[in-house]
Amino acid sequence: MSVAVVLFTADLRLHDHPPLRAALASSDEVVPLFVRDSAIEAAGFGAPNRLAFLADCLRDLDAGLRERGGRLVVRSGDVVEEVGRIVAETGAADVHLAAGVSAYARRREERLRAALEAGGQRLHVHDGVITAVVPGAVTPAASDHFAVFTPYFRRWSAEGVREAFAAPRAVPVPDGPGSEALPARGEVSGVSEGLAEGGERQARTRLAAWLRHGLAAYEEGHDDLSGDGTSRLSPYLHFGTLSPVELVHRARAAGGAGAEAFVRQLCWRDFHHQVLAARPAASRQDYRTRHDHWRSGAEAADDIEAWRQGRTGYPVVDAAMRQLHHEGWMHNRGRLLTAGFLTKTLYVDWRIGARYFLDLLVDGDVADNQLNWQWMAGTGTDSRPNRVLNPVTQGKRYDPDGDYVRRWVPELAAVSGPSVHEPWKLRGAGHDRPDYPRPVVELADGLSRFRRARGLD
Ligand code: FAD
Repeated sequence: MSVAVVLFTADLRLHDHPPLRAALASSDEVVPLFVRDSAIEAAGFGAPNRLAFLADCLRDLDAGLRERGGRLVVRSGDVVEEVGRIVAETGAADVHLAAGVSAYARRREERLRAALEAGGQRLHVHDGVITAVVPGAVTPAASDHFAVFTPYFRRWSAEGVREAFAAPRAVPVPDGPGSEALPARGEVSGVSEGLAEGGERQARTRLAAWLRHGLAAYEEGHDDLSGDGTSRLSPYLHFGTLSPVELVHRARAAGGAGAEAFVRQLCWRDFHHQVLAARPAASRQDYRTRHDHWRSGAEAADDIEAWRQGRTGYPVVDAAMRQLHHEGWMHNRGRLLTAGFLTKTLYVDWRIGARYFLDLLVDGDVADNQLNWQWMAGTGTDSRPNRVLNPVTQGKRYDPDGDYVRRWVPELAAVSGPSVHEPWKLRGAGHDRPDYPRPVVELADGLSRFRRARGLD
């Protein structure tokens, strides 16, 4: 009997899973393995919201495998040692894994390959699992990656996306390898109250509902904060419970302007992944330095804390930060505004904000988070690095009736209409809210500090 190991990482699904498909095609039995990697938790990436969501995903993956005659094997520790143990226990000759893009994922691949080859086994790394188009598959003439989105989108759109594969009917597993008890979301403390449920089944139910009821209105509705007209599929994509390849095909099949706009956003995801794959250090270092001397120490401590707590005195910024606390997720327009406010208006180091997002976001992803933060800080791929978003005008534009603010900032729940975006103007008008803070900084002062720092004035 030939045995192969399928090491699941950020691809916790059975539909459209090239490593599982290849392992089933070439071996009699397969060990579906997930290693709770001690290095990831030690590096501070074990945020409660993601651990809770991960627990849902692993339980659901196990249930899906059991329906097919298999089961999931979960182990904890060093990923290379645990794979080595499973290989020794089962006599497996092959290990299949989805290619990753981060520096960590690359190192993991290298370590696995070296350890397996030393033992006479083979590592098979599969492309096109985590992204729709493989990072590096399309490149401009003189570089290893695209630094500008629009030409990337053009080439990405012309590049064929491989077909999506069905889930396997049966997954035969060997008797041997024991599993730890599956983790449960209830064992994780510090989880956001409104955190979504994880798992492939949830993902597929939400996807079907989105394609039927949400997609057509996406183009006009995606920036409307209170309308909540985006797919909310990001955590399912981050954990790989949905395949980006399948999503592209299904959205294109649905057709229309909404589908086109949605596929464009999926391309943004691939765009950031191909930047990180080519420049792994961009997770920590400026992609393009602007020679900033960010505020980061004691002088900025109160501002940073006000931003974290959603108490900056700018209602749309505070509403978005409180949505983040409550759901472990934030609307894209909220992410743009809160990140722009921290980096440009408060002139605080983008790494501080990115770290805080990673501590809370259920979809917290090194490529999408760090590179979007760099975009907003003007150190990334934005061709207008010095633009500054005004939270009052943005609030009025994207939350015109103030419903989003009232939902998340109860101190302002009694203020009607768009005036909720400028609570300081209500003082003395019978709407005084002593429990809601005054602005931490005047916007004009924040703007001139930023412009001076960038040498623009
Ligand atoms: P939809 O609008 O329905 O879009 C569909 C999918 O497209 C998303 O699920 C996502 O996978 C992808 N997508 C959309 N916009 C972007 C974008 N700008 N960059 C990359 N992919 C995109 N997204 C993450 O998945 N993880 C993160 O950690 C993350 N951090 C961010 C930090 C900042 C400062 C900013 C400005 C954006 C960040 N984003 C991140 C991108 C974006 O905000 C989220 O993907 C989106 O809000 C998720 O909601 P949705 O699934 O309803 O998106």
